[in-house]
Amino acid sequence: MKQAWFRAILRTLFAMAVSLLTTHIAMSVFLGEFQPVGYLIALLVPLFISLPMSFYVEHQRQWLAAANRELNATRKQLETALAQKEFEARHDSMTGLTNREHFVAHLGKCRRKSDVGAVLILDVDHFKTVNDTYGHHVGDRALLAIVSAITGSVREGDVVGRMGGEEFSVFLPEVDEEATLIVAERIRQAVEETDFEAEQGKKLPLSISIGGALSTGSETALDLIRLADARMYAAKRAGRNQVVLRDDDSSQSPAHQQESAAA
Ligand code: GH3
Ligand code: MG
Ligand code: MG
Repeated sequence: MKQAWFRAILRTLFAMAVSLLTTHIAMSVFLGEFQPVGYLIALLVPLFISLPMSFYVEHQRQWLAAANRELNATRKQLETALAQKEFEARHDSMTGLTNREHFVAHLGKCRRKSDVGAVLILDVDHFKTVNDTYGHHVGDRALLAIVSAITGSVREGDVVGRMGGEEFSVFLPEVDEEATLIVAERIRQAVEETDFEAEQGKKLPLSISIGGALSTGSETALDLIRLADARMYAAKRAGRNQVVLRDDDSSQSPAHQQESAAA
C-alpha cells in the first residue's frame, strides 16, 4: 500500500512538472503573458486526475503480482503432489520398490527395445513362521533387511520390484545366463548372510528361493515372469535357499550343487 502511494505520488509529480512546462510554453506562445491562475490549474489538474488514477493502477498491479505469486506457489504445490501421487502409484509404500504393475510395464518396455535380459522371481523361505513366531512387526523388519540385501547386490540399471507379500522380482537387462546366475547367487548369498536380530540377542537366519528366466526374444514380459515364477517354485521344492534358471537342474546355484554333491 505504502509503495503504491509512493509510486503514485512520483508519477503525479512528474505529470505536474510536464503540465507546468506545457502551460508555461502555451501561455508564452498563445497569450504572450504569464497568468498565475494558469499555473494553478496546471498543478491542480494532474493532482486530481493523476494521483487517484496512478494509485488505483499501482494498487491493481500489486494485487495482480501477489495473485500471480500465489498462483505460481499453488501450481508448484500441485506439481509436487502430482509427482508424489505418480510415485506412489508405481511404488510399494513399505519398501519403496517398484510395484508389480510398474515392474511388468517397465519389463514390457525394455523387452520391446532389446531382446536380451533376464527376470528373477524371489520368494522368502518359510516367512509365515517368522510372523507366527515373532509377530508382524518383526516380519516387516525382516522384509526390509531382505530388500536391502537384494538392492545391495544388483547393478545400477537393474530394476527391483515387489510382486506382492514376500515375493520380489529383479530385471537384469543385457545379461546372459552366466551373468544371471552370478547375480542371482550373489543376491541369495547376501540374504543368507544378513545379520538379522528378531529380538535382542536372537539372531534369525533368512533365506530366499530364486527362479530365473532369460528372454529369447519371442516371449512377452508376462511369459518371462510366469517362467521365472515356476522355477522359483522348483527351487522351493528342491529344498529352498537356491537358484533355478532352467527346467532341468543344470543351472542351480553353485552352493546348492556343492551341497548336492556332498550329500
Ligand atoms: P515358502 O517358503 O513356501 O514361501 O513359505 P512361506 O511361509 O514364506 O509362504 P506363505 O505363502 O505360506 O507365507 C507368506 C507369508 O508372508 C504370509 C504373509 O502373512 C506374509 N507376508 C506377506 N506380506 C507381508 C508383509 O508385508 N509383512 C509381513 N510381516 N508379512 C507379510
Ligand atoms: Mg515365502
Ligand atoms: Mg510367497
